[in-house]
Amino acid sequence: MEYNSNNVFAKILRGEIEINKIYEDDFALAFYDITPKAKIHALVISKAMVVDFADFIEHSNAAEIEGYMRAIVRTAEKLGVIEDGYRLVFNSGKNSGQEVPHLHAHILGGEKLPTGQL
Ligand code: AMP
Repeated sequence: MEYNSNNVFAKILRGEIEINKIYEDDFALAFYDITPKAKIHALVISKAMVVDFADFIEHSNAAEIEGYMRAIVRTAEKLGVIEDGYRLVFNSGKNSGQEVPHLHAHILGGEKLPTGQL
């Protein structure tokens, strides 16, 4: 899928939509999900304009990949979920139900999460 900069996360990166910011660096911006699916639910969006995980890996160098992964951990640290644990989800493509076609990781935690499918 070709990247389309009309998506909501591209607008957030351009400062056109307000967010509740948790963390930001050169590689990522993290904020709270607007419709939380767990007690703590954050999104870590890439600053790279890529649709999903495969697109990101295909079009990024090692430093960019490392930077984004580290930003996810920095965000989890800020949220205070490292010790008790959390779930990291990358929805990719239509079978996953991905709604926003801009790379993002969901961090879910703050409570015992349901298991079953995962
Ligand atoms: P996905 O289904 O993986 O594409 O997840 C997209 C997520 O973005 C959903 O959990 C939405 O609730 C969330 N979302 C959409 N718009 C916003 C927004 N303006 N601020 C925060 N989260 C949003």
